[in-house]
Amino acid sequence: MKEAVVTGLEADMTSRSGMVSNGGKKVYRAPVTVLAPEFQKLIARALAAKEVNSCMGRIVAAPTAGASGILPGVLVTMQELHRLADRQMLEGLLVAAGIALIIEQNASLAGAVGGCQAETGSAAAMAAGAIVYLLGGDVDQVFAAVAITIQCMLGLVCDPVAGLVEVPCVVRNASAAAIACSSAQIALAGVNPVIPVDECVLALGEVGQSLESRYKETALGGLAATPTGKAIARKVLIRNIEVLPDEGT
Ligand code: SF4
Repeated sequence: MKEAVVTGLEADMTSRSGMVSNGGKKVYRAPVTVLAPEFQKLIARALAAKEVNSCMGRIVAAPTAGASGILPGVLVTMQELHRLADRQMLEGLLVAAGIALIIEQNASLAGAVGGCQAETGSAAAMAAGAIVYLLGGDVDQVFAAVAITIQCMLGLVCDPVAGLVEVPCVVRNASAAAIACSSAQIALAGVNPVIPVDECVLALGEVGQSLESRYKETALGGLAATPTGKAIARKVLIRNIEVLPDEGT
């Protein structure tokens, strides 16, 4: 995960379609800081690690490749900010893995099954739980963070432009990282999520099941079905057809 962040911030991150173009680096170096510099780094790192995936580099699918920027962005930033040891980070990852297991068994982690809420939503929930654990929250607060995150991500459709895991996937990794942090902040303060975590997870599954197939990674709905999305899909398809014979020679 650390490697993916560094690669995304240092190497050229231009995808073959051209839709991804070094967004992480641009945010990292931007002269305007919206909140604190740490927030800028969080967003840049989440974008950068995810861009490595979109550019066919090596990432950790946590829980999926489409959501592979969220945990790296959050955890690298947490470790730097709070000077946490690698051993603590591993424990945080274990907490995150446990959260993923619960969601996987009771709802889904795949965009093709449950929409983007299942992918980036689950990764954000994993990250939120890990943050709470790392900052000394108790088990109830860990699961409150998961519940709050799911409440924030519920209903998000999977609509990748041209069927490529680039737009809106990359920017959703950044927003999911931000939501993970806000949910952890809320949970650590002892705010009650009202709807218990188990019921939030079941709602995630129920919403996922009810989504039409055009919102489940088929690239037939949402942003993929906009005029611009369709035009990009046509261009990518034509380019692939033109490139194929050359690749064979
Ligand atoms: S839009 Fe679909 S492909 Fe992209 S990150 Fe979300 S679930 Fe994955």
